[in-house]
Amino acid sequence: MSRPVFRFAPSPNGDLHLGHALSAMLNAEAARTAGGRMLVRIEDIDLDRARPAFVQRILDDLDWLGIDYERPVRRQSEHLADYRAALDRLAGMGLTYPAFASRAEIRAAVASREAEDGRAWPRDPDGAPIYPGLDRDLPVETAATRIAAGEPHAIRLRMDAAVERTGPLSWTEEGEGPAGETGLVRGDPAAWGDVVLFRKDAPASYHLAVVVDDAAQGVSHVIRGRDLFHATAVHRLLQSLLDLPAPVYRHHRLILGPDGRKLSKSVASTSLRALRAEGATAEDIRRLVGLSG
Ligand code: GLU
Repeated sequence: MSRPVFRFAPSPNGDLHLGHALSAMLNAEAARTAGGRMLVRIEDIDLDRARPAFVQRILDDLDWLGIDYERPVRRQSEHLADYRAALDRLAGMGLTYPAFASRAEIRAAVASREAEDGRAWPRDPDGAPIYPGLDRDLPVETAATRIAAGEPHAIRLRMDAAVERTGPLSWTEEGEGPAGETGLVRGDPAAWGDVVLFRKDAPASYHLAVVVDDAAQGVSHVIRGRDLFHATAVHRLLQSLLDLPAPVYRHHRLILGPDGRKLSKSVASTSLRALRAEGATAEDIRRLVGLSG
């Protein structure tokens, strides 16, 4: 049997914090226990936010934590053609459409529908309004003309058609979702609406890239924070549409800041660097994330 494959997949838009340390340590530990492989993947397709300088800082932090991982490290920015190929495949199945609306236009459409209906427009699991379907029914020729004229656009998934094509999907959850979901979990990708597959300002979306990469790297186990639990439904949907294998998932608890909120890369005080500068050791970090003993 082939060895299980684990991965830690940070985005280089800031320094690692305690939440990342927990993810990286759980992955490394699981790989060690299972006699598996440990990979690191740099998720740097968000060209607006990703900063090359953070990549080295992240790898330094991982070394400092004593995390062992295989080289070379995969960087998403070097695999854009793979995401494009996956997108083309979905487009060939008639499951995508170009969406030209700006953020302001989307906001205005949601606001006007809320005013019309007298109630809140549905939100996705992250709390953002579901995409109101602008440009969904644009004639193909009109869309083609606008694209040829260089108009910026995103590519979205026709969620209803996609879900109809795959039927119900589930995954094996070895951790726990926000409502205690565990074991065989039924995904609800439709709760996300017509998700973005290619962004206006980035060459692929997180959802598409993560699914393509996990398959390309043979990842068998995804261990990551619970904030990504609901996104797994979209990942399973894309895996099914693209005939990619489904890893086993383990969503772990989040490390909360003193204000009770999820840690953010923009808050420097909880970064591993700041803690290290204050004299913390890797063993202290283990303790801080509740892994000691
Ligand atoms: N790159 C994502 C992040 O930094 C994690 C992706 C994943 O583990 O699937 O939050």
